[in-house]
Amino acid sequence: MNIHEYQAKSLLAKFGVAVPRGHVAYTPDEAEAAAKELGGPVWVVKSQIHAGGRGAGRFQDDPEGKGGVRVSKSIEEVRANAGAMLGHVLVTKQTGSAGKEVKRLYIEEGCDIARELYLSMLVDRASSRVTVVASTEGGMEIEEVAASHPEKIVKEPVDPAVGLMPFQARKIAFALGLEGKQVGAAAKFLAAMYKAFTELDVSLMEINPLVVTGEGAVIALDAKMGFDDNALFRHPDVAEMRDEDEEDPMEIEAGRHELNYIKLDGNIGCMVNGAGLAMATMDIIKLYGGEPANFLDVGGGATKERVTAAFKIILSDPNVEGILVNIFGGIMRCDVIAEGVVAAAREVSLHVPLVVRLEGTNVELGKKILEESGLPIVSADNLADAAEKIVSAVKEAN
Ligand code: ADP
Ligand code: MG
Repeated sequence: MNIHEYQAKSLLAKFGVAVPRGHVAYTPDEAEAAAKELGGPVWVVKSQIHAGGRGAGRFQDDPEGKGGVRVSKSIEEVRANAGAMLGHVLVTKQTGSAGKEVKRLYIEEGCDIARELYLSMLVDRASSRVTVVASTEGGMEIEEVAASHPEKIVKEPVDPAVGLMPFQARKIAFALGLEGKQVGAAAKFLAAMYKAFTELDVSLMEINPLVVTGEGAVIALDAKMGFDDNALFRHPDVAEMRDEDEEDPMEIEAGRHELNYIKLDGNIGCMVNGAGLAMATMDIIKLYGGEPANFLDVGGGATKERVTAAFKIILSDPNVEGILVNIFGGIMRCDVIAEGVVAAAREVSLHVPLVVRLEGTNVELGKKILEESGLPIVSADNLADAAEKIVSAVKEAN
């Protein structure tokens, strides 16, 4: 789960990470009140969407205008900028061409920026450690820096037994070109950030830019935070920050039925039990020249209701031109699955080709139920057969 910049900053502040003062605003009135409370002379009005590149982004209805992060020099300007952003669609490098409607703003005090740096923490799967990534090239996307100047990125893995050591924090501070009291400030910043990272079960934390102010203070000017969904139950205050407007509606619906669903760009919908089998199914669809429309793991104990919900979710994607059901009946029995598939296909009045591959307990009975249903369900004998059949069925239909 991801959260907004203002939420990330409020969490970081609790751990002692230095951030500018600011207030969230849902209306121009609230923006004005926030600006008055902060006191000037400079404010920054920041669009809150779950995507980066807001500053360089443009509003769909005003492509020649200013971006989603605007420096404002009077209360009137704050109000005007708020009006120009709220309810308007912001398109950035990360939103895709459809963009994102801005529904919340963050009104922040203006900061006197001397230097923009980059700092992040993530779980590095290769080393199985929380790793600090830092670069002097702040403000731009780290992927671009990695491509053009990989030597400007430093990485520091953290030993979980001892945590981020002061010498490591100083090493990072020096790599960022900090000097004098900035080194101590950065070390304090990093220690607080690491504490927040581990205590809140964060999976990614990105501060871009981390800035050195004219007075030499080190503060987080932007903050992005992503959490491990499986640990959210330990953090109800974080879970409450979820903004469903920023998530895919089909993925939200899937979550309600305890289905693991991720929408993809292809045209073959997949319904599979088990994440590993789901991955293998997507791979084999591609091998036979097709493109999966989704990843969907119905889990180990899928009921008829869950199978029906899964069908509805798959079919609500207008790109879906065929469905492949691939179920291994281990704990689950194939006849129960077959009944679920038949009932679901009837209920949603299926209009695209459906190939079902069942294997495992009671497989013969399961296949018989599919056959006797009278529905145009194509039965497949194995994974390759299933993939081949659905890919050619979709091709024929086109
Ligand atoms: P994004 O990464 O989505 O474009 P940022 O929060 O990083 O959004 O803002 C973009 C740029 O706007 C920053 O690199 C910085 O130069 C400027 N900026 C952001 N917040 C402030 C602030 N409070 N004061 C001054 N400048 C700011
Ligand atoms: Mg940024």
